[in-house]
Amino acid sequence: MPTMVTMQMSLVKSCNVSDCAYFKQGNQCHAMAITVGGPHPYCDTFFRSSGKGGAEQTGAVGACKVDNCKYNIKLECSAEGIDVGAHEDHADCKTFSPR
Ligand code: SF4
Repeated sequence: MPTMVTMQMSLVKSCNVSDCAYFKQGNQCHAMAITVGGPHPYCDTFFRSSGKGGAEQTGAVGACKVDNCKYNIKLECSAEGIDVGAHEDHADCKTFSPR
């Protein structure tokens, strides 16, 4: 039987990408769960929209495909929280740290 990973979801502590549909005042992400990567550590949930969406809760990392990050365990994020920020024309996980 395959081994299951039991861990807490990593919260998005801050995000400064204000033109994302999930951005809310106070540098908060309100997507229920984002996907990161890969192999570059971009936020795959980011999209530009004049309308705002998301839930009344802080976003978390639902999945991460950046398997060369030291926080990545079996394609899930084990960091206590992540910061997301603008990079060129997209949003990146700034907590990414190569192994
Ligand atoms: S810290 Fe590493 S494992 Fe966690 S979301 Fe960012 S790139 Fe993925």
